[in-house]
Amino acid sequence: MARKVLVLGEVRDGSLRNVSFEAVAAAKTAAEGGEVVGVLIGDSVSALGSEFIHYGADRVITVEDEKLKQYTPDGYSQAVMAVINEEKPEGLIIGHTSLGKDVAPKLAAKLESGLISDVTALEAAGGNLVFTRPIYSGKAFEKKIVTDGLIFATIRPNNISPLQKDEAKTGDVSSLSVEIKDLRTIIKEVVRKASEGVDLSEAKVVIAGGRGVKSEEGFGPLKELAKVLNGAVGASRGACDADYCDYSLQIGQTGKVVTPDLYIACGISGAIQHLAGMSNSKVIVAINKDPEANIFKVADYGIVGDLFEVVPMLTEEFKKL
Ligand code: FAD
Repeated sequence: MARKVLVLGEVRDGSLRNVSFEAVAAAKTAAEGGEVVGVLIGDSVSALGSEFIHYGADRVITVEDEKLKQYTPDGYSQAVMAVINEEKPEGLIIGHTSLGKDVAPKLAAKLESGLISDVTALEAAGGNLVFTRPIYSGKAFEKKIVTDGLIFATIRPNNISPLQKDEAKTGDVSSLSVEIKDLRTIIKEVVRKASEGVDLSEAKVVIAGGRGVKSEEGFGPLKELAKVLNGAVGASRGACDADYCDYSLQIGQTGKVVTPDLYIACGISGAIQHLAGMSNSKVIVAINKDPEANIFKVADYGIVGDLFEVVPMLTEEFKKL
């Protein structure tokens, strides 16, 4: 059944985040031959419309307003609701990012719709659209179908591959005028922690350090390896609690959830709360001095050894490739 599916793009520092293109790929599956419409919200976003189309959107609608320069739940939900009222879609897909996790439930409540959150796979099978999502902190997966009403889902970054970019693809980029009013929050300024290199939640390679790195300086060899592999550095809560690194790097149940192609855990014991944030990574390598460490139970490759010897060796070898 062909459907019209909207995709909310996510803009950061003037660029579309990768998860927006993954959401377009999910929307293509959900549309089953119907139309995929990208939605861009901000103060000046129309220039990004063509890139959205190159990644598979059939057309793009922008809602631009000075009040939408920074994300606020009130502002964004007013803008998205206006597009929904205009377009009357059968589906809506949003990235399962901080923004998506905040705005999607608000929209679902306004629309009196269900919401399938944190989707890692989507397929059209047996006349149904089947959504897969992790449960019990990633220890099991459930499959869901929508039997009635809007097909509304958030998708976990790094799980659904974006479509091949086609720079020859064209489509209409139009703007919708929406009066943004009664904002209960006004963001005056956003001060981001300076982070080096790749964004942790979208990184294809994550080098994570635990209490085993022993100090802030102990993260040095991990940063070197991350640089060589164009990856991001992450951490266990143990390392964050010990003040070896910032909490923005924490991976796990109460930190970020990552699903890179390669996750290298260095000096991390593998507590259940840490596994909740990384066990769905495609390939897991664990480096730990203790052969009994729990992390080896989820690792595809295990190296029993001192991370301060193993990590620099890996860096030197990868440099040769
Ligand atoms: P440790 O458990 O101390 O492990 C250190 C490891 O390093 C050991 O296995 C040791 O053998 C190894 N090691 C030491 N030196 C070396 C060396 N030189 N070379 C190689 N290996 C070495 N944790 C998270 O990570 N993320 C979360 O989101 C999270 N949320 C939590 C929520 C709750 C409600 C609770 C109660 C806990 C949470 N935790 C979380 C904490 C979690 O239970 C663990 O305490 C934490 O993950 C341990 O961190 P660690 O593995 O770095 O430290």
